[in-house]
Amino acid sequence: MFCPKCGMQIDDGVRFCTHCGLDILSVEQEPKAVDLPKVEPVEENTSERDVKKTGKPVIMFIYFGLAAVVLIMFFIASQSIISGGNKIMEIESVGGKTLEEAYYHELGAIYAGYAMIARAFGVFFASVLVWLGLKSK
Ligand SMILES: [Zn+2]
Repeated sequence: MFCPKCGMQIDDGVRFCTHCGLDILSVEQEPKAVDLPKVEPVEENTSERDVKKTGKPVIMFIYFGLAAVVLIMFFIASQSIISGGNKIMEIESVGGKTLEEAYYHELGAIYAGYAMIARAFGVFFASVLVWLGLKSK
């Protein structure tokens, strides 16, 4: 074997290096002491956990992302419905005819209702997607 300190060749089973006087046993025991705690099983567990983390949660995040997109789209749609309804109201209000104004005021309320339905659908679809995402665990 070779001395770990000076690198010179020494006889096997010799306690002290004949060249530098290093205590071979004290050096040899260190790597053995490192082997004893067995770090490897812990590493295997973490790698298994990593596989679980990187596997299905990705699908979950896709569902959550879709839910967010659906929710945003429905809210944008509802917002455009409301603004569309409001614009019709504004245009017809300029005319000043009370009957038509009343009609288009109702139309605005109807559009607001449509917007609410769109939002409700958005929340519903988003929650379904979130549920599917949680189910895919
Ligand atoms: Zn030595």
